[in-house]
Amino acid sequence: MQLPKIGWAGLGNMGTPMVNNLLKANYPVQVYNRTRDKEQDVLSNGATSAPGLRELAQENEIIFVMVSDDAAAKEIFTSGDGLLSGEVQGKLFINVSTVGADTSRSLEAECQKHGASFLETPVSGSVKPAQDGTLIMLVGGSADDLERAKPLLDVLGKMSVHLGEVGKAAVAKLSINYFLAANLQALAETVVFATGNGVKAEDMLNIVNEGAVGSGITKLKTTNILKEEFPAAFALKHIVKDLRLAREEGLDQPLSAPLFNTYQAAMNDGLGEEDLMAVYKHLKKG
Ligand code: NAP
Repeated sequence: MQLPKIGWAGLGNMGTPMVNNLLKANYPVQVYNRTRDKEQDVLSNGATSAPGLRELAQENEIIFVMVSDDAAAKEIFTSGDGLLSGEVQGKLFINVSTVGADTSRSLEAECQKHGASFLETPVSGSVKPAQDGTLIMLVGGSADDLERAKPLLDVLGKMSVHLGEVGKAAVAKLSINYFLAANLQALAETVVFATGNGVKAEDMLNIVNEGAVGSGITKLKTTNILKEEFPAAFALKHIVKDLRLAREEGLDQPLSAPLFNTYQAAMNDGLGEEDLMAVYKHLKKG
């Protein structure tokens, strides 16, 4: 069976390992990244490079987008030389970036205007699950489009959850990231409190991780806290974006404002390009 030609825009921390998994599964993948140097990793693994976004959409059947935020996704789709600037009738566009529900619905409407299909598929899981192909794919859109995308989603993730029409998956993604932000701020505050009162960070993290409150994420971030090194798997600036989007979507719970304010303050400290666990550094300095 001939595999469909795949286009991919956006080769950051997530896009690169996801494309590498499609290549490993033998899909022909053509890529485009604004900063062209960042294409090198996937090109060395067999991807080809598109001259621009218009060509990326025209030359491929199914086109993924994995970029930072709403503004970037809108630009990629709708700018004068963007994905939708050429003939795209019948193509399927899949936005795997995390954006707000309104943006997602507007991208769907733009695609439909051009006779193309659209799925929103934000992903739950960070760089390691992206490398391992074990992301959770949160899908909003039609069942037919999901069926068309499913073999690809099965390469990228361990499961796909169909949440309903476009907009629902965006909300589910913002919800899980709210939970993530709360967990990591709580972990940071716990270690700051304990160490400030003479308990070793190593001992405190051991107690967390070996007890019922320990989780995949507390274990994953333990080495970062102990070394006080936070290279971005999920950049702190992106959680600020997601907490802002969640609040725009109506999130108004006791923790929502303090969480947003803390991560925003950490970003103001210059920690935006570090991993979101760098909120620990911000809280530690007091
Ligand atoms: P990243 O490493 O910061 O990469 C961002 C990508 O977006 C880069 O390819 C960048 O291109 C591109 N981009 C940004 N603005 C652009 C614009 N105006 N036009 C064209 N391209 C633009 O981000 P990431 O960690 O891969 O995350 C990507 C998305 O996935 C975000 O929405 C994030 O919230 C979501 N997400 C991330 C994780 C994670 O753990 N990292 C997990 C789940 C979901 P350049 O190379 O030219 O800058």
